[in-house]
Amino acid sequence: MLKIQDYRPQPFIDFTQEENVNAYKSALKKVRAELVGKHYPLIIDGERIDTAEKLTSLNPCDTSEVVGTTAKATIEDAERALQGAWKAFESWKKWDMDARARILLKASAILKRRRLEACALMSIEVGKNYAEADVEVAEAIDFLEYYARSAMKYAGFGSSETTWFEGEENGLMSLPLGVGVSISPWNFPCAIFLGMLAAPIVAGNCVIAKPAEDSGLIAGMMVDILLEAGLPAGVLQFLPGVGKEVGEYLTTHARTRFITFTGSRAVGLHINEVAAKTQPGQKWIKKVILELGGKDGLIVDETADLDVAVTAAVQGAFGFNGQKCSAMSRLIVVDSVYDDVVNAFVERAKALTVGTGEENANVTAVVNQMSFDKIRGYLELAPSEGTVLCGGKATGEANGQQGYYVQPTIVGDVKRDARLAQEEIFGPVVSVIRASDWQDALEIANSTEYGLTGGVCSRDRARLEQARHEFEAGNLYFNRKITGAIVGVQPFGGYNMSGTDSKAGGPDYLANFMQLKTVTERW
Ligand code: NDP
Repeated sequence: MLKIQDYRPQPFIDFTQEENVNAYKSALKKVRAELVGKHYPLIIDGERIDTAEKLTSLNPCDTSEVVGTTAKATIEDAERALQGAWKAFESWKKWDMDARARILLKASAILKRRRLEACALMSIEVGKNYAEADVEVAEAIDFLEYYARSAMKYAGFGSSETTWFEGEENGLMSLPLGVGVSISPWNFPCAIFLGMLAAPIVAGNCVIAKPAEDSGLIAGMMVDILLEAGLPAGVLQFLPGVGKEVGEYLTTHARTRFITFTGSRAVGLHINEVAAKTQPGQKWIKKVILELGGKDGLIVDETADLDVAVTAAVQGAFGFNGQKCSAMSRLIVVDSVYDDVVNAFVERAKALTVGTGEENANVTAVVNQMSFDKIRGYLELAPSEGTVLCGGKATGEANGQQGYYVQPTIVGDVKRDARLAQEEIFGPVVSVIRASDWQDALEIANSTEYGLTGGVCSRDRARLEQARHEFEAGNLYFNRKITGAIVGVQPFGGYNMSGTDSKAGGPDYLANFMQLKTVTERW
């Protein structure tokens, strides 16, 4: 019997051990030999289909290298995928919950065996260093294990509690919604891609997966694993393509029942709008689950352990080059400790290595030309909005390698309403904001439209309790980094413009993909 109590998060690999580093290097060789250069076609109704046009995935750390290609779905392909998924739904919805859950567990077992391969592919395709890649694959395994087990509470009739009533049997059933579209970002191309499929699928839905263009290969590998685990044809339709084309077509389609989207605020809000417009023949109100961007702040007050605070700042800001929705992009420091904190932070940032994911640099290249240009724009703005304390250049080069390299950058004394302090940059760029005191710091923290992650480094119990209630963030951390939520341990999702707070990896996440039916029988 599957029980949520049996779920345990995966431990991370310790890369201070030489044998683990060597194993990673071997995996890189294997991936270079077997996966790099691969082409992933579409998968519709279990059939691999190629398209005339292709999407190319580049190595961001060495842009002369093509990592591989995927097919590029057309509108006709999207239509076929949608119709096929509805056909598959007729039988998939009737499977027992435990039978569906077992497929996720089998997929988890396969991914555990291929853990370092998945890591290595991410190092090459999106530039993750060893630890960043490893925690992501661990998270992907956790999603499979956690959703498989948490599905069991929705199985069967009476699965949720109702109150006893004389002469009747009453109960609730949790039913899948139907066919949905899952649109995912490139920054967690393994864990988020997989989690956003596994949850609706185990609940009995069929899903069309549209991966991000920059990470089609790792997405293809995850789909292969789910199919190898026994997922029936049509339950998962793999549709690499262009978001503005096939993504747009599917999100506006009358037969799309739900949309689960993780990505930028601009695209998420657009999807929210177009999905709300009822199409001719549409039978339902589409359910839209959005996980969007952030402008996440860490407050350091005068009571904080400065070493803890600076470590939290460095890890939160520069892990995967600040390309996390949860990344710390605003450091808010109380005036009386501002110089001490900022000097130590700058010193630690200057010591970070910049290079490729494959050579396990601390900071690697950002994902693509668009991202590089966007960050460069903010770096040009930086001297007029604050003092550049370290970095400040988008070099496009590191150790002789041409790629989308940006120096870890800290900009001091940024005004709270400056663009640098308000807009999501999504790169290794931190704005430091000076607060007059604790209360001012909290106001600054809450002064964005976002509300994803946040943190406080303080030893003042009353302040921590105040922040617990008043800091507007879906995930709030005290005296540690503000990134790295663990499935089941820290359910993840944002408030305000950061999303619909669906709490991925949380006890009620699967309910997003189900509808409830109350059934009453009078005896
Ligand atoms: P984007 O919003 O650019 O893209 C996300 C996905 O949406 C991609 O698959 C993209 O396809 C697709 N897309 C683009 N336009 C449309 C459209 N009109 N209709 C339907 N789909 C579309 O985000 P990024 O991939 O750049 O990811 C980074 C963003 O994601 C950041 O803002 C980050 O904060 C956020 N994020 C949020 C998380 C959270 O949990 N809250 C977690 C991770 C990231 P294509 O690739 O073809 O353009």
